[in-house]
Amino acid sequence: MLTPAPSATKPDPQDLLAWYDRHRRELPWRARAGEAADPYRVWLSEIMLQQTTVAAVKPFYLNFLERFPTVEALAEAPTESVMQAWAGLGYYSRARNLHSCAKAVVDKHGGLFPSTEAELLKLPGIGAYTAAAVAAIAFNEKAAAVDGNVERVMSRVFVIEEPLPKAKSLIRSLTEELVPADRPGDFAQALMDLGATICTPKRPACALCPWMRPCLARAAGLQETFPRKQKKETGPLRKGAAFVVLRADDTILLRTRPPTGLLGGMAEPPTSDWEPDYEPARAVLDAPIEARWQRLPGTVRHVFTHFPLELTVLFAKVAKGTPAPTDMRWTPRLKLHEEALPGAMKKVLAHALGDLPGAKTNPGKNTPAKAGS
Ligand code: SF4
Repeated sequence: MLTPAPSATKPDPQDLLAWYDRHRRELPWRARAGEAADPYRVWLSEIMLQQTTVAAVKPFYLNFLERFPTVEALAEAPTESVMQAWAGLGYYSRARNLHSCAKAVVDKHGGLFPSTEAELLKLPGIGAYTAAAVAAIAFNEKAAAVDGNVERVMSRVFVIEEPLPKAKSLIRSLTEELVPADRPGDFAQALMDLGATICTPKRPACALCPWMRPCLARAAGLQETFPRKQKKETGPLRKGAAFVVLRADDTILLRTRPPTGLLGGMAEPPTSDWEPDYEPARAVLDAPIEARWQRLPGTVRHVFTHFPLELTVLFAKVAKGTPAPTDMRWTPRLKLHEEALPGAMKKVLAHALGDLPGAKTNPGKNTPAKAGS
């Protein structure tokens, strides 16, 4: 970290709060000014917002809340219906943890979320950020919720030269020092809003920023170069084949992935293994069923968090009454939207069948996708 000049002023939390009182975002999970926040809604939104944008989360959040209006309703719901409501948001381990957490809140805490950061941290799927965010926003505990937005703001204000993720503990302690005792929840939300709307990754609107004066990166004209980051390593491309089978009664062959691991518990048309040196020309050897297989032109591409995937799609029609192989099932084409299909598999089905909601096809071309979905 650069040493601040003697005249440099510390960022004042009250300036940020005054800005927040005028410019706070209206969000469906956010309590109105002066109203108490609902811990269930705060927690649900924070889990959904991890690595996903506010715009993407809003419809999922509203639909989720309609289906599971309380933590009890969520805890009692079958896993498949939780996964199905989550489908499309990506990072499916979060949905499984979400469900386990709801059950733990009901079973161990009588349906009431614990009110401290330390107790919240003990619940499944609640990490340091979520525990601090829920404790601060829902229970007004003096906790510092540090997410990517906050890291960006703080690394700029204090010109933190150490790259992320190493700088995380320093950023956290600098944030903790700023949390005001009287409005920790508003402070957490104000910092999030500042990072999301003013101190954006590119072209931050410094002229509108309540911390423009104390911001050292802005003074040096280096805003966009912070936070410093270590280079990410992405895995090698994996390839495989996906098999879309249409039975004459307009049903599609699907299976459910194992409960743990990538896309655990989600539905998919059967696929081969995914390997860097998979040979699509031999894909028919991995087919789940004997049929006249047609290799479709183009491929389906999807980028997961740790590797990109390229699937060749094979399509076949089979006669009515054809049995499903072990551990597979026939789902009516018109009910595909009720299956917990991840984004990658929606793309596969759309590639073969056309017009699936929320999916993109790429005849002859690659289609990039949101990481992790
Ligand atoms: S002055 Fe600019 S770079 Fe600094 S915190 Fe505000 S928006 Fe971000």
